[in-house]
Amino acid sequence: CGIIGIVGNQPVADRLVDGLKRMEYRGYDSAGICTINDGALVRRRAEGKLANLVAVLEGNDAPGDVGIAHTRWATHGAPTAKNAHPHATDQVALVHNGIIENFKELKAELTADGRKLESDTDSEVVAHLISRRVEDGETPREAVANVLPRLRGAFALAIAFRDYPDMLIGARRGSPLVVGYGDGETYIGSDALALAPLTQQITYLEEGDWVVVTREGAEIHDEEGEIVEREVRPSGASA
Ligand code: GLU
Repeated sequence: CGIIGIVGNQPVADRLVDGLKRMEYRGYDSAGICTINDGALVRRRAEGKLANLVAVLEGNDAPGDVGIAHTRWATHGAPTAKNAHPHATDQVALVHNGIIENFKELKAELTADGRKLESDTDSEVVAHLISRRVEDGETPREAVANVLPRLRGAFALAIAFRDYPDMLIGARRGSPLVVGYGDGETYIGSDALALAPLTQQITYLEEGDWVVVTREGAEIHDEEGEIVEREVRPSGASA
């Protein structure tokens, strides 16, 4: 439902939760965040209101300057902590808005390949498809470019890679996703409003685009994988 990602130069957990709060108006049933810290993905999730996620984080912080977060409005799988996003393997974590229509076939393929999926969501298959390729030696760019054409349906994605702690990848088809530009930081959001306290400088991704986000900025690819320029404009959203 709501997505925010930050490649930052200072801790991100509080700012990720603030971004989720700004998207509460959309409605949601659970929430979660994942940061990259000290060579590991640090994931915290909770059923229900953001206050529950904040309570989890108070007992168990998610340190790190890079991370992704999500408020979920369940379409596939009950609204539980186990089904809350981010979904993750050891190496890859992601948040997803939308519906992966062919997730049953993809899940059967992954299960036949010996992979253990732990949720009832359509989204988790995407984490495993990308992770399988990264585990086989592909770069994050290669893995994402190879997996996106396999997905049917609508999505906005933000993806974190354990072994690439200075970047995130975003992708959109059928669900909106924006990139925001800060001072030595770069952001991804499903909503310019979520990024309003962080930046007013926004690029709206176009249908089929995917983007590699680093502290230096954004490298946007179109559906064919070509690097493209997209307009940067003031969001007009108020902080
Ligand atoms: N289809 C996904 C799920 O049920 C994502 C829902 C959403 O857009 O929040 O987990």
